[in-house]
Order: sequence, then C-alpha cells, then structure tokens
Amino acid sequence: MDKSKELFSKAREIIPGGVNSPVRACKSVRSDPLFIARADGPHVYTEDGQKYVDYVMSWGPMLLGHNHPAVNKALHEAVDKGTSYGAPCKAEIELAKAIVDALPGVEMVRMVNSGTEATMSALRLARGYTGRNKLVKFHGCYHGHADAFLASAGSGVATLSIPGTPGVPEETVKHTLLAEYNNLEQVKELFARYGEDIAAVFVEPVAGNMGVVLPEEGFLQGLRQITSEYGSLLVFDEVITGFRVSFHGAQGFYGIVPDLTCLGKIIGGGLPVGAYGGKKEIMSRIAPDGDVYQAGTLSGNPLAMAAGLATINTLKSMDYELLEQKTRELAEGLKNILEEKSLPVQVNQIASMFTIFFTEKPVKNFVSAKESNQELFIKFYNGMREQGINLAPSGFECAFNSFAHSEEDLEKTLSAAKKINF
Ligand SMILES: *Cc1c(COP(=O)(O)O)cnc(C)c1O
Repeated sequence: MDKSKELFSKAREIIPGGVNSPVRACKSVRSDPLFIARADGPHVYTEDGQKYVDYVMSWGPMLLGHNHPAVNKALHEAVDKGTSYGAPCKAEIELAKAIVDALPGVEMVRMVNSGTEATMSALRLARGYTGRNKLVKFHGCYHGHADAFLASAGSGVATLSIPGTPGVPEETVKHTLLAEYNNLEQVKELFARYGEDIAAVFVEPVAGNMGVVLPEEGFLQGLRQITSEYGSLLVFDEVITGFRVSFHGAQGFYGIVPDLTCLGKIIGGGLPVGAYGGKKEIMSRIAPDGDVYQAGTLSGNPLAMAAGLATINTLKSMDYELLEQKTRELAEGLKNILEEKSLPVQVNQIASMFTIFFTEKPVKNFVSAKESNQELFIKFYNGMREQGINLAPSGFECAFNSFAHSEEDLEKTLSAAKKINF
C-alpha cells in the first residue's frame, strides 16, 4: 500500500512538483497523485495494485480505451521499422488524408508534436497570413501554454491584458484580447474597436477547459460571421473536440467551417501529437512553400502516425450515438443521485464528455463555472476515488467516457456516487 505516496515523494525531489504537468499533482483536490503502472480498456492500475474505472483517459486521447488492440498492433508493427526518420514517410500522408476527409474545414494539414505547438503555430500563421497582430480569445478557454494565450483580463475586458503567469512579458500578451465565452456582444465591441488589427479569433467550439461549456445557439455562427466581415481568421481549437464531439469534430456537428483547426489528443491515439490545418490558400503560406516558418525534428513521427491512423480508422466504424446516449444516462444518473442528497447540481454534457458543477445556476461561461462549489467537488472527487473511480482532479475539467467503458463500469460509477457522504 501507499507505493504511490512513496514514489511521489521521490519524484518531488527531482521533478518540479513531482509531475510533468501541474494538474496531475492533485493539489486542487487536496490529494496526491496515483502512480499508474498500466492501463487497459476503461481501467488504470496503480503501483499500489489497485484498479480504477478511469474518466481521465489521458485527458482525452483514449476515446477507444487504453491499450486498444488495433492501436497496439499498429504500434508494434511500426516499432520494428525504426522509431524516427527525420524524413517523409507514407504514414504521414495517410493520417493527413484521414483528417482532411473527416473535417470540413481542413484541406491541408501540418503535423506537430502537441496541442500547444498546434495552437502557437496556427497563431503565427494567422498573423503571417493576415499581416495583423491581435487575437481574440475567451476567458476559461485553454489553448496550450504558449505565451500569447496565457493572458487573463485586467479590469477593462477590452484593453488590459495582463499575463496569467510570471515569465510572460506584458508585451507578449498586449495583442491578446479577451471576451466572455458565449458573449457575442463583447466580441462585436472588440471588433468595432480593433477589427482591422485582429488576425484571428481562437475558440474551443465546445469549451472543455473550464469544465464542459456548450456554445449557445448562434455563438459560433456569430463568430463565423464577424470574422469573415473583418477579414480575420476563425480558428477552432479542436484539440479535445476533434473526433470526439463527432467523427467530424465540433465543426461537423455544428455545421460551421473554420479557417483553421487545431488538433491533438485523439489524433495521436495516446502518443504525443498535434496538428493544425485549414484552407489550402492559408496553409500554403507555411514554409517551405510559403514564408511563415514552422518546423519540428520529430514532427510526423512514424510511431505517432501509426497510433493516430489506427485510432481514426477504428473510430470510423464506432457508434458515436450509442456512446452519447450512454454518457447522457451516466451524467443524468449522477445528477439525480447528487440531487437526492439535496446538493446543487448542473451537468453539462455533449457526446462522450461531461462535467458536474456543484451550483444552482446554469454554467455558460468561466464566471458561472467559477461560482460552482469547489468544496463539494473535492468531497465528490475523493469520495469517488476511494471507491475506485478515477475522475480528473479539478472541478474545471471534463470527465471522458470511452468506447471501452461497459455497463458494469457505468453502474459501478453510479453506485459509488450513491455512497458518498457529503
Ligand atoms: C490539451 C489542450 C491543448 C494543449 O495540448 P497539449 O498537447 O497539452 O499541448 C490545447 N487546446 C485545448 C483545447 C486542449 O484541451
């Protein structure tokens, strides 16, 4: 027992905070991380020898479940052919083609190694293509950790962008304009003032990084319209939603075609991958055809391409509707159980992703998300974890269901929720 604790204290001596990505440290839920020894299907197994039903799913990539046989087989075959060439290989074209075929807004695509690289490269391209510097982003949306995106609002929403972390100079975020998610009026005000200088609007078409927050009717359409009007680019950050909200992404689901799309997570099938793509005319501006520079030693890595391609090819024939229905039943089931305990509960859910917010008011932006009761979430998280259910360790994250979760897993999840004393 408590091998995880022992490993964590060792890790903390030589890795900052003991983790390679901050949320994993479980600080916000006043707990310590579980060290995972292996994962299979919907389950993770810890170094302590315990088994959990997993809803973190590596923060989204494992839509097919962990250790999926088709992905595993593709990886084994690829590994025998060498792990990196630094030269083009066929698998890159195959994955690019699978992405182009699936996403309405993507005619050409460039592979990178993470979602962060995808968004920061898309921003450079948008700036290079439009010859403008400013970008609009929304409070509570996360676009990776590149400097320009790490801004939170000062007092005046429109004018004052202050860095969200030390290490980011004010000059770097002075071109970053912020608006409230689902607030088209604020976007219109920003455009009325700065429209001719705005290179792009970056948006998560379904927000997943303040917990799940759905776009209200007309929001994405409005963004499409106003960016077109001003000659700015509409960039959908589909790093979470791509191949999850539907096989055709959020753009296919909502029927809105963005100018650029950022991808990651699922398209790597669990390996480190990102990609950005869009209209040919825009994508042709990237080096070596164009003048906007972007490169990567390991980009298009044959192992990552193999895992991504096997994942997308398998997803093609999966029943997204059935998974949506099961996820809705699970989310609604949890809501009912918690409401029976007289707790204030909102559930936001789409496709296989959902978030439970402990609040009475509907959650439609970052302000309302932050009003949810974190003390209740912490009890919920730890109560579930004690019973073998692994949720994301923050009240502002998604729970990810997968094609691997069985009825039994979902029932186990519901009965765990029933037993928690708040
Ligand atoms: C995870 C995520 C990113 C960053 O991807 P990394 O691979 O962690 O760099 C960017 N945008 C969104 C919407 C994400 O969820």
